[in-house]
Amino acid sequence: MKHSIRLHRISKSINNKTVILRFHYSDSQADGEKELFFSFPLFCESALVDNRSEAFLLALFPICSRRNIHFYSNIAMSESFFQKINAFNTFLSYNSSQYHKIVLSAPTIKDERSAKDWRLASGSLGVDSFHTLYVLDKNHLYRRPTHLVFNNTGSNEEGGMLHTNLLQGRMENTKRFCLENGYGFIFVDSNYKSLFEMRYVYTHLFVNSAIGYMLGNAVSTFYVSSSGDVAKTLEYDGPPGHVDFVIYPFLSSEIMEFVLAEGDFISRFDKMRDLVEYVPAQRHLNVCFDFADNCCRCEKCRRTLMALECLDGMDKFSSCFSPDKYLKNRDYIWADMILDYEKGDVYVKEMWPMFKNKLKFKHRLLALYKKLYKKIRKLHGGVFVTNLLHLKCW
Ligand SMILES: [Zn+2]
Repeated sequence: MKHSIRLHRISKSINNKTVILRFHYSDSQADGEKELFFSFPLFCESALVDNRSEAFLLALFPICSRRNIHFYSNIAMSESFFQKINAFNTFLSYNSSQYHKIVLSAPTIKDERSAKDWRLASGSLGVDSFHTLYVLDKNHLYRRPTHLVFNNTGSNEEGGMLHTNLLQGRMENTKRFCLENGYGFIFVDSNYKSLFEMRYVYTHLFVNSAIGYMLGNAVSTFYVSSSGDVAKTLEYDGPPGHVDFVIYPFLSSEIMEFVLAEGDFISRFDKMRDLVEYVPAQRHLNVCFDFADNCCRCEKCRRTLMALECLDGMDKFSSCFSPDKYLKNRDYIWADMILDYEKGDVYVKEMWPMFKNKLKFKHRLLALYKKLYKKIRKLHGGVFVTNLLHLKCW
């Protein structure tokens, strides 16, 4: 029998300070009914949609398409959404061997819900999401987002629980930022990741979009912080996030409009050029891979610091990066950036023409030393030699 998933019903319940949306479904390769849940703050209750299946289909789209699972729903979805997602399904399967054309079946209806006034954007506080807020504040104030969403549906390896200090710290950062800047704050928790094990890069775009549809009684617009890459338009084997601008028009419908706030594509460095003068980013920019606050050492912190150095913006960002820590370790960080450049890091490449003039002989020597050290460690693997050569960088 062909592998399929069927959505049977959706329920909504209140639990303590959250309201939980549950999608009850069956999987032809497993026994019994399963539940995918998403929890929201209590004030979202009337915004949540429990009689439409757009959100469930979107959340499951990468799973079904990449694993060739057919999708059936007993719950209706908007006619225009159904047509667009089917077109997308066809488009994707013809352009990539990684995606299959799946059978989609659901009752469709014409959706005529009344005016809605919530506009969502991502609350990750990274460069892309801050640039979206910057563009909207600067050019389209009347369309400023009303709420920022922070969700636990992917980057956290286990999902479904607020169980790491890193996640808790990042959530608190976003909450504080929303309070200071007049945005509503929506934290979404889910068991998505534990039910459907798939890499975050393939799922997050769809799950984030699904959350917009879940809040469809109130949300009219979802601003997307694109990191799109025009050159990769048809390389669908890569992560979908690289081709945002192709995907999002397919996901919009008469219920929900997805808007790429940047309008066109600009490099990460050009985004940083804008953010250097944007006060909310100066206070709250958060890019770190490893910690709730910027560590000034990981790959993402390094390249952001490098941009700030090129743009003479280090002092302005002293409340979210530590200039002392950076200055103390700058030689090592710069040596790492030389290695990032040699590895072909696209973000470092963008800044390289400005950065290379600042480099001195000692940085190149240090980079060479680090490279040799890594090679010897790989070949030798012995504790004595690697300890002998190890630089006490941190
Ligand atoms: Zn970091």
